[in-house]
Parts: sequence; C-alpha cells; structure tokens
Amino acid sequence: MKLYNLKDIKEQVNFSQAVKRGLGRKQGLFFPETIPRISKKKIKKLINETFITRSQKILSIFIGSEIEKSIINKSIQKAFSFPGPKISYITKKILCCELFHGPTLAFKDYGARFMAQILSLLNAEKKSITILTATSGDTGAAVAHAFYKMKNIRVVVLYPKGKISKIQRKLFCTLGHNITTIAVDGSFDECQKLVKKAFNDIEIKKYTQLNSANSINISRLLAQICYFFEIFHLIPESIHNKIIISVPCGNFGNLTAGLIAKSMGLPVKKFILSTNSNNTVPRYLKTGIWNPYKTISTMSNAMDISRPNNWPRVQKILQKEQWKINKHLEYGSVSEESTKKNIKELFKKFNYISEPHASVAYTLLKKSINKKDLYGIFLGTAHPIKFQETVEKILQIKLQKPQVISKIIHLKELSYNIKPNFNTLKKILINHQ
Ligand SMILES: *Cc1c(COP(=O)(O)O)cnc(C)c1O
Repeated sequence: MKLYNLKDIKEQVNFSQAVKRGLGRKQGLFFPETIPRISKKKIKKLINETFITRSQKILSIFIGSEIEKSIINKSIQKAFSFPGPKISYITKKILCCELFHGPTLAFKDYGARFMAQILSLLNAEKKSITILTATSGDTGAAVAHAFYKMKNIRVVVLYPKGKISKIQRKLFCTLGHNITTIAVDGSFDECQKLVKKAFNDIEIKKYTQLNSANSINISRLLAQICYFFEIFHLIPESIHNKIIISVPCGNFGNLTAGLIAKSMGLPVKKFILSTNSNNTVPRYLKTGIWNPYKTISTMSNAMDISRPNNWPRVQKILQKEQWKINKHLEYGSVSEESTKKNIKELFKKFNYISEPHASVAYTLLKKSINKKDLYGIFLGTAHPIKFQETVEKILQIKLQKPQVISKIIHLKELSYNIKPNFNTLKKILINHQ
C-alpha cells in the first residue's frame, strides 16, 4: 500500500511507515495513493461474508503484499474479538447502527485495537514504545485497553482532573500493568500542550520511541471501513440502494472511513455530516470560509472540536470522486436543545435509550429522509451509560449498568496526580519504564 502526504506529495510512504509515523512532514496527513475499487458483483459477495472474514479481505485488499495475508487475518481476528455492530430498528425507515459493544463501549475500540495489533507487529526489534496521549474521554480508554499487557509497549494517558466522568475514569485508570494514567490539575488543552512538548523533547526520545495513537493514524481509519460494510450485511438486501448514513462528527475519522467505503464501491447513497454547535465544517460548506471559533462545551463532548484533524482527507475524497455537496454529502449542526429534545423523542416515542452523540446524528437524519423513499441509519458511537448523568437527567430514569461496568466500578484508581508541569511529566516518562 502506497500513501502520500497531503501537504507534501513528494513524501511517499508504505503502510507500515504511515502507521509508525502517524503524521508526515509539515504535520501533513497520509492519504492512500489509490483507493481500491471493488466491482458490484464482488461487493455483493463480500457483504455475504461474516464480519471477521470480510474485514480480513478488505484490509488485505488495501494493505496488499506488504504484510502477509495470514498476519493481517490474525491481527483482525484479535482486534475484533468482541461483539460487533448491531442494528436497532427505531422505525421502519430509521435504524441505529450500534458500534458500542466493545470493551470500552465506544466505536473507538475498532480502530484502537487494530492499531495496537499492527504496531506491536511492526515492532519486530522489540524496542520500547510509549504511546502518549491526552484524552477528554473515549480515546484514552480505547487506547489503554487496546494495548493492555502488550509486551514492550507502555501507554501513558493524560486527562484533565475532575473533567471526565467516573465511568470513563474507571475504564482506563484501574488497569495498571503497562498502563500509566495521569490526572492533570488543568484543562484538556493543558494536557494536550504537555503531550506536544513531550513529542519535541530530545531527552525523552533517547529513552523511548513515542507514538500518539490518535485518530489521524491510517490504521485506525482502515479498521473503521469494515463496519460500514457490516451495516449492509445486517440490513435486508431490498433496501441496499436506498441507504443514507448520518455520522456524528468530531475529528471526522468516522466519516472519512465511511467515504472510503463508498469510494470502494459500497452502495451508500449519501452521508450526512452531523456536528454539534462546534460547527466549523458546516459553516465552511455553507459559506466557503474556514473560520474556526473557540471550542464550546456541549453534552456530546467527544465532538467538541473546532479544528477537525481529518477534514483534509474528507475534502480530498470529495474532490477525487467529484462528489457534490447535498447530492452525496449533506451537512448540518445541531443545538443542545434539539439534541436533548431528540434523546427524549427516541425514548418516549420509540422506547430507545440513546445518548447525545447519536442524537445529533438522528436529528439531522430524520429531517433528511422525511417523505423520501430512503432508509436512514445513524451511528450509535457510544453506549448511553458513558453519558449516564446527562441521559438520566434528560429521561428521568435510572440506566442499567452493563456487566463490563459493574465489574469495574469498584476497582481502585491508580492515577498519578500532577500539576500541568512539564518536568513532572518528564520524570514520570523517564523514570517509570
Ligand atoms: C470520538 C467520538 C466521536 C467523533 O468521531 P470522529 O471520528 O472523531 O469524528 C463521536 N462520538 C463519540 C461517542 C466519540 O467517542
């Protein structure tokens, strides 16, 4: 598989290099030189396969001979060893694709776990690798679980103290072993600044190889393509050509993966790009002016991003395919009030418990398919229990805890507590090997 840097087309890398490097020169994103096309007939056959077998084939088509097929197969099998996507019918025409049945109850498990398998595979020299990441919630948990107990890889997760929920904390701060968690007495931005500084520190680099495992990594995107195909396996064939998918967007990794699947030949009629009030992209599509505002805190906090990392990739695909806004991709941004109203509607009218991110996607979807001969699918990106307080308050009910949560809720948290001070972080990174 060949990829090039979107900011410097002369920088060309293979899949392994792109996974290890994450970003290219000038902070440019890597993009596949070609997106493989699959014929209609073959797509039909692929859709009939099981999730694991099909995902192995898709990844093999993409990665090519660079990594042996049997090894790709094993990586996928290990990465996707949890209950896969499920479809819930909300109405006859509106469905939710639940991607939150993995170990940390969010769709990020798919990408993070595949990336962990690939990185460990590529680390044949058995060097010490440190995955260093800042999280405002879901990413930290998915990444920590994905690398848990892997040899020669240590994970260090920074998070803003008191700003993430108890359940989110329990999901990654109680693991121990090769997982180090650090509560920073500061904001998420301060956590990110510390991480950036570490990546530029020469001394730290002498001790360990740093990798960020964030959502710009190409391995995470490739893994996410697989569940868009699975949707078509789970719905009746008679509606395959009438599907519109609404994606709740933050960094736009999920949407990028969906558009790549469409580009490969998956017959998705249209995507809807759904954001919360952090609506840089919807405003850009409307006015042609890129003007990010300061990030606003919302209920759908995994989407509180005003400078989405993956946007250049989305633009590249649209341009390459000559897909038109509105015809192939609709967009919109949803207020807090509507998000709340539709969490209520989903429960009161359809007896379906959802959460803020999915509600954003649902809100735009139902407007769009109204009166058309189309079927709408919105992505359920996280389990409602991850936003327990918000959901319980809106619905005035108590949520049942899934087993994975009741098992960990009493475990002791093992985090370091630090002030947002770089030298303290550096000491932990260097001393605590
Ligand atoms: C990360 C996340 C998103 C946003 O996904 P992107 O790929 O960054 O656009 C949406 N919902 C939930 C629950 C998330 O954790």
